[in-house]
Amino acid sequence: MTPTSDVVVVGGGAIGCAIARELAARGLSVTLLERGEPGGEASWAAAGLLSPQSDACEPGPFFDLCLESRTLYAAWSRALEDETGLGVGYRVTGILRCAYSEAERESLLARSLWQRKAGLTADDRTARELSVSMPGLLSREVAGGVFFPEDGVVDSRRLTGALAASAARRGVRVLPGTEARRCLVERGVCRGVATATEVFPAAAVVDATGAWAAFDPAWRAAAPVTPVRGQIVALRPETPLPLVVEAEDVYLVPREDGQVLAGATSEREGFRKAVTADGVLSLTQAAIRLVPALSAARFETAWSGLRPAAPDGWPILGEAPGLAGLVFAAGHYRNGILLAPLTARLVGDLVTRTGHRDLSAFSPDRFASAPPESRRRGQFG
Ligand SMILES: Cc1cc2nc3c(=O)[nH]c(=O)nc-3n(C[C@H](O)[C@H](O)[C@H](O)COP(=O)(O)OP(=O)(O)OC[C@H]3O[C@@H](n4cnc5c(N)ncnc54)[C@H](O)[C@@H]3O)c2cc1C
Repeated sequence: MTPTSDVVVVGGGAIGCAIARELAARGLSVTLLERGEPGGEASWAAAGLLSPQSDACEPGPFFDLCLESRTLYAAWSRALEDETGLGVGYRVTGILRCAYSEAERESLLARSLWQRKAGLTADDRTARELSVSMPGLLSREVAGGVFFPEDGVVDSRRLTGALAASAARRGVRVLPGTEARRCLVERGVCRGVATATEVFPAAAVVDATGAWAAFDPAWRAAAPVTPVRGQIVALRPETPLPLVVEAEDVYLVPREDGQVLAGATSEREGFRKAVTADGVLSLTQAAIRLVPALSAARFETAWSGLRPAAPDGWPILGEAPGLAGLVFAAGHYRNGILLAPLTARLVGDLVTRTGHRDLSAFSPDRFASAPPESRRRGQFG
């Protein structure tokens, strides 16, 4: 089979678009296959929080990955905007995480302590300090909080649109309405992708199909991703919310135009993307509990999306055990928008066999039962 592209990327969400764009920048010819329209699934639904610190319960390789990706964001998003002329709404707003009880406050303070010991900034705030700095904003139930000044937000829809536009400008052949069905395998090596009617021969394939990974069921054991539904309610308060505020059961993300996103539910309902009465009710109640003035906000809309979750909640980055040339970039769960810049770089290194980083914590090998010596390594370079 003669390759018609160096790489076929399957899936046109934030992850697939970012990877296709990166590979094109490295001089490779790339075809991007997207079943629907690029950016129509989880990347469309995301709130766009870039919150490695406010989200982190413990240090470790996953925290380091998230933190590193956040550090790439400013330059990466600026380059994207300069290249496309499209704004992506990247802002370092800081995130205030609130506690309702002493027990929650203790656990938040423990989080800020280990982060400060690691050299990061995390500012503890008493309930009194919060009521003085933001009079009348937060519920009287708030028992204190921690402000993470370096966390931020991006507009995930505009981001994915800009990534797709940039990929196309860099020469990526973007094919919407094209569903990959299976890998083309030649002597144990992945040599492209087949749809129901066409083949796309390539020297390497990247599976970035989000909650639908692996697109070829034969390799699903290496990327056992399941969908976790998240619903979001969009409200429009009369007075803009000055920063991102969150508690254990809700986050409130102010958009640049004043809309506030209240998210998100976390539900295992298969591939059903319904917005439910219970989802809207629980998010709205949690939002009003945290910021009581939101009770007068206009309800604008609500939506849902499917987060791609691996069993351990960590992304799956690496070559499929037993199939050289098939690289997974899946399972980004709650952090795919945050992790897009670093994932693009790491997958670029994997595909071009450059970079020497230890990605074993995120490798699909962690799900495989086959002994390591039986796994073939790819030849793409
Ligand atoms: C409500 C909600 C809030 C979230 N908030 C945040 C947040 O604040 N911050 C953050 O970092 N992350 C957030 N996330 C998570 C984030 O949205 C995901 O981790 C990220 O979008 C995953 O990107 P992806 O490209 O892997 O998946 P997707 O965006 O789902 O893209 C996968 C694409 O693959 C396509 N596809 C599937 N199968 C095939 C096939 N066989 N052939 C061709 N194409 C195929 C799909 O059509 C889809 O377009 C949130 C998610 C949800 C649902």
